[in-house]
Amino acid sequence: MDAFSLLYRHLIDWVITPITEQFFGIFNLNGRLGALFLCASYGVAYGLFRFRKRRGLTGARSFWQFLGGNQVHWHRSALLDYRYYFVRAILKVALVVPIVHLVDPYILRSGDYLAFFGNLWGARPRLGENLSLALMYGLGVFLVKDFIHYWAHRAFHSRWLWAFHKVHHSAPVLVPATASRVHFLEKVVEKIGVTAGLGLYVGAFWYACGGEVSRYTLFGVTYLVFIFNSLAANLRHTHVWLSFGPVVEHLLNSPAQHQIHHSDAPRHFNRNFGTNLSLWDWMFGTLYVTTRQPEPLRFGTGEQDQQRYLTVYSLIVTPFMETARKFRTRRSRRVEAETRSL
Ligand SMILES: [Zn+2]
Ligand SMILES: [Zn+2]
Repeated sequence: MDAFSLLYRHLIDWVITPITEQFFGIFNLNGRLGALFLCASYGVAYGLFRFRKRRGLTGARSFWQFLGGNQVHWHRSALLDYRYYFVRAILKVALVVPIVHLVDPYILRSGDYLAFFGNLWGARPRLGENLSLALMYGLGVFLVKDFIHYWAHRAFHSRWLWAFHKVHHSAPVLVPATASRVHFLEKVVEKIGVTAGLGLYVGAFWYACGGEVSRYTLFGVTYLVFIFNSLAANLRHTHVWLSFGPVVEHLLNSPAQHQIHHSDAPRHFNRNFGTNLSLWDWMFGTLYVTTRQPEPLRFGTGEQDQQRYLTVYSLIVTPFMETARKFRTRRSRRVEAETRSL
């Protein structure tokens, strides 16, 4: 490949694609915030509003009020989320993509695993392309991604990574754009984790099938992601209570379950880390199920953090300063303990 085509390819991969994805994200289906998924979520919310209104279960006079009204959608925190949504495009180009590209050559890919298994056990007969195989392959991709997201999320609730994840949790009101209020470091870790996990899964699956299997997609999105995003996924970051009931919530993560995850009540801490499935929460002991009866919730991580995370700058820089402070305190405590023991 000549220098010009190489430069052109890098420009497309590193700059043009991330920027268009972010700015025109509302028109594409590769993110939960696509217009179609937003409409689907608000359609479900409207159905809920009519249902509850008819039964006298809500005091909201209008649909807008039911969604939280001006005090939620024009709250200082929500306005920050809208601004941060666009800043993320710049962060993606300037930091996330270059860091991931730096690590990329060291991550084993499907081809590496395919060659490894081939050397170990020899080539396998090629299975013909068929729909059930493509559907199974898509299901696996979905499960691997969701499983990695669960553990990455759980890791970011640990002592040393919490300051970065607190960016997401510091929001005292939830709007769909809050889903994008994620520190860039978390995105980097997630992307690397998913690339590594999928590399192994795809390599193993293709080896078992004796060659590549095309993935079954709906409008360019893995079919299961499409289905889950259409199931009111945007209501996760709203004040609309939508529970799937205690039985279904052992498998599927409902918007109400994610709102519990954002609650500042100690009994809700470290519960419901799942994205699409709560199966992982059930398996690893972090499940909290809900009922049709809404629980009174207060979102965020307390007054102090609301003051600390008021600007786009603080969303990006504060986690680094907080983590450095934690390191310094730990070191000075250790030095103090050593001096005392002398
Ligand atoms: Zn969290
Ligand atoms: Zn969230």
